[in-house]
Amino acid sequence: MTDHASPTPEERKARLDAIAAEIARCTKCVLHRSRTHTVPGDGPVNAEIMFIGEGPGFHEDQQGLPFVGASGKYLEELLAAIGLSRREVFITNVVKCRPPQNRDPLPGEVEICTKTYLERQIALLNPKIIITLGRYSMGLFFPDGKITRIHGQPKRQDGRIYYPLYHPAAVLRNPDLRPVMDADMKRILDLLQEARQAEQKPSGDEPPPPADERPVQLSLF
Ligand code: URA
Repeated sequence: MTDHASPTPEERKARLDAIAAEIARCTKCVLHRSRTHTVPGDGPVNAEIMFIGEGPGFHEDQQGLPFVGASGKYLEELLAAIGLSRREVFITNVVKCRPPQNRDPLPGEVEICTKTYLERQIALLNPKIIITLGRYSMGLFFPDGKITRIHGQPKRQDGRIYYPLYHPAAVLRNPDLRPVMDADMKRILDLLQEARQAEQKPSGDEPPPPADERPVQLSLF
């Protein structure tokens, strides 16, 4: 690769794998002590949509893959209902190790994990849409947001769409939210269309910098 060329998909995959390898060795917070496997994220490097959940649960910790328990099964159903499959999207979490007893991740854990890994994953994948699942990932991009008020309301910023949704586990716990979740999910295809069209109409003369060189600054709590 020359200095100014965008990385090839193979190079991007290698960099993503390198981040995953760093996560596997990570001891930056206490969550490493109780984990079975790290859960860096899963999906193709050219995914246009990135889902960000909260943190691995029991099954994710056992398998090293995100959203493979009950919430994951439901997320797959939600995706199938709009004609998408999890193989087409990138799925990751705010923290990459399971908090013991599924407790909420602490602010320091969120900060170190997102600064060290999630920001780099976002910069590398450069998804057109980031969909936050639940209040922890929402808090990174909508610091003053309340999930009950802003779910299903996209924010356009820095050439990307940020779209906050309820966490699938919250909907499983409260079935009254199912119609709301279905309606919010349905909007994803329109947002994708919008993002694709926006990309075809660059506003300036300058070409965008390579995806992995664009800084991503998350606002943390
Ligand atoms: N809940 C999450 O937030 N992430 C997972 O990976 C699984 C359940």
